[in-house]
Amino acid sequence: MVAWWFTSAFRLWVPYLRVRHKRGLELRIPPTLDAKAAALQVWCVRCGAPIYCFRRRQTRAGRGVETTGAFYLAVTCPSDVNPGCGRGKAASEAYDQIEKMVA
Ligand SMILES: [Zn+2]
Repeated sequence: MVAWWFTSAFRLWVPYLRVRHKRGLELRIPPTLDAKAAALQVWCVRCGAPIYCFRRRQTRAGRGVETTGAFYLAVTCPSDVNPGCGRGKAASEAYDQIEKMVA
C-alpha cells in the first residue's frame, strides 16, 4: 500500500504546508479551502483507522475549547481516540517523509 502522502489527493496540499518546528506541520490555506481540507480522509499510519489528516488547532478559551481556524497535519488517530498511535516509529517516519516533501 502506497503511503497516502504520495497520493495526488494529498500532494495537492503540499504547497500549503509549512514546517513549524520539530514534528509540526501547519497548513496555510485561504478560508475558501477550509471545508475541502477538513474533509480529506486518509488512514492512521499506525493502526490503519480512517482519520482526517488536517485538523483545526484548538486553544483553551475560558472554560471551554475553541478552534483557531488554523490547521495542522496529523498522521495518526487523535490522542483521545487512540493515544498509542501518535507515539512510535510509524508516526515519526511519516512526519519525516512529509517534511522532506515540504522543505
Ligand atoms: Zn491509529
